[in-house]
Amino acid sequence: MAYLGNFTNTKAILDKYGFTFQKKYGQNFLVDSNILENIVTGAGVTKEDCVLEIGPGIGTMTQYLCEKAGFVVAVEIDKKLIPVLNDTLSEYSNKVIINEDILKLDLNEIALKYNEGRPIKVVANLPYYITTPIVMELFESHMPLLSITAMVQKEVALRMETGPGSKDYGALSLAVQYYSKPEIIMNVSAGCFIPRPNVDSAVIKMELYKENPVPVRNEAYMFSLIRASFNQRRKTLVNALSNAGVPGASKEAVSSALTEMGLSQTVRGEALSLKEFAALSDLLDN
Ligand code: SAM
Repeated sequence: MAYLGNFTNTKAILDKYGFTFQKKYGQNFLVDSNILENIVTGAGVTKEDCVLEIGPGIGTMTQYLCEKAGFVVAVEIDKKLIPVLNDTLSEYSNKVIINEDILKLDLNEIALKYNEGRPIKVVANLPYYITTPIVMELFESHMPLLSITAMVQKEVALRMETGPGSKDYGALSLAVQYYSKPEIIMNVSAGCFIPRPNVDSAVIKMELYKENPVPVRNEAYMFSLIRASFNQRRKTLVNALSNAGVPGASKEAVSSALTEMGLSQTVRGEALSLKEFAALSDLLDN
């Protein structure tokens, strides 16, 4: 039975192992059973699913996942947590605990080894210091994925979900929305964790597209344009791209592409939708 989702039982396990939190690993453990149940339900986990959990901590959410999923792959960087996980997850046989940095693992290999290469669901309360690298790695590895349901800093969730015209819109929004359909499914207060983080949190569900709704000829090139546009987001797109020295994006080339797309010469990157970045990329990359 999942018993860790409260302060008393979490504290008892931490004391039993003399565990001290490591700030460098972004360790904030969930101690609210309602939130834990809602995350696993929101992720739509069933016995058909193989779930990858990044950063199981002491195994709090892992217990809920083991009860709902077919199989759980839990990847934890902190070796001090491995004996704890072996204890708290001892009653479940449908799991494997891997002591590794998620950014160093071959994610396609994980899907192959534990789910015969079929798409898996990621469910995680992510360490906030590397949320973006982890999410980008999940997408860019092109591992077989159905969805990512992740607890992140609220501000990051807003950046992932928003569109052009908002101050939160940027390279992360475009990357997330290129690969998936994001939706914030709940807000979570700092009091639901120990230790309390000093930011608000939110759970975002990103459902991967089976077929990309915004096809682009050269994905890597489009993302180099996007990064260059937002690195100098106060500049016009013409200046930001030509200053960055992106191949094919001279002042003249960007200017004529904007004319062809019916956009103003003074437009900034932050005003362009994903579809417009894809169109610009196809015009400049030849
Ligand atoms: N899942 C637990 C929970 O909800 O209570 C813990 C979540 S805590 C926010 C993040 C966890 O990720 C910690 O256990 C931390 O040690 C682990 N972690 C940090 N960096 C990691 C990395 N690069 N690879 C794998 N795990 C990592």
